[in-house]
Amino acid sequence: MNKTVLITGSTSGIGLGIAKQFAKEGYNIMFHGLEKNGPEIAEEIGDKHRIKVAFSNANLLQSKAIEALIKKTIETFGALHVLVNNAGIQYVSPIEDFPNQKYENIIAINMNAVFYASKAAWKQMKSQEFGRIINVSSVHGIRASEFKSAYVTAKHGVIGMTKVLALEGAPFNITCNAICPGYVKTPLVEGQIKDQAKAHQMTEEEVVEKVMLKKQAVKQFVPVQAIADMAIFLAKESSTTITGTSFALDGGWSAQ
Ligand code: NAD
Repeated sequence: MNKTVLITGSTSGIGLGIAKQFAKEGYNIMFHGLEKNGPEIAEEIGDKHRIKVAFSNANLLQSKAIEALIKKTIETFGALHVLVNNAGIQYVSPIEDFPNQKYENIIAINMNAVFYASKAAWKQMKSQEFGRIINVSSVHGIRASEFKSAYVTAKHGVIGMTKVLALEGAPFNITCNAICPGYVKTPLVEGQIKDQAKAHQMTEEEVVEKVMLKKQAVKQFVPVQAIADMAIFLAKESSTTITGTSFALDGGWSAQ
């Protein structure tokens, strides 16, 4: 039987890359995201790899919508083996000007949604005696940068939650781990280049060179494929003792 994976934010960027890799491995996939062409993306990948797919545009700002997303996944596929909490947003601003609503939305989508989705999936994973929760945190879950008070707070929170869920899941073969990428060139980062340019009063080229990749020893954006490969590895049956930990895919940023 094919396993089922739900990947939040899988109609763009990193989530889409992770979904494509799970599709190649034969998983059934619940796609999710706010992109308008989400249903077409899901259908195309489903047809290409002959896997069962569905799509949801549940708004992760609402706990009820997250619960409904998990319910729909279990009803559609009859199982939920792997939950990848990937969706996230960013906003860059000095704290004194940071809009409260932006702060609250980042905490809600990047951190609270991880709690609500994992909580809703828990009973099913327990009954299967198999669960793999993979949280896409960030190097900003283990390191800070200026002008990112909300994002750094949320991503650090996800690392803490990862450890707790690992402890609680251990008796049931539910593992929980975090992946901490450095900079990956996705729509989220394209937006940040513009915002950072404003905050630092630099050109966009200067931001990439002097701000973004400055802290990475490897002066390249992290490939989406590296994150997708790590997610597949963590989802394996044989990864049962790998739990409660964070994997930095950050070009050596956190080695310093
Ligand atoms: P992206 O903007 O390409 O994709 C984000 C996804 O989240 C989209 O599908 C979007 O629709 C979804 N989303 C956003 N708000 C939502 C909401 N309210 N309800 C439902 N879905 C919502 O971004 P990405 O770069 O692929 O980021 C994916 C994850 O990786 C995020 O958690 C991000 O923080 C993390 N990350 C990204 C980088 C990077 O450099 N791009 C680095 C480290 C960590």
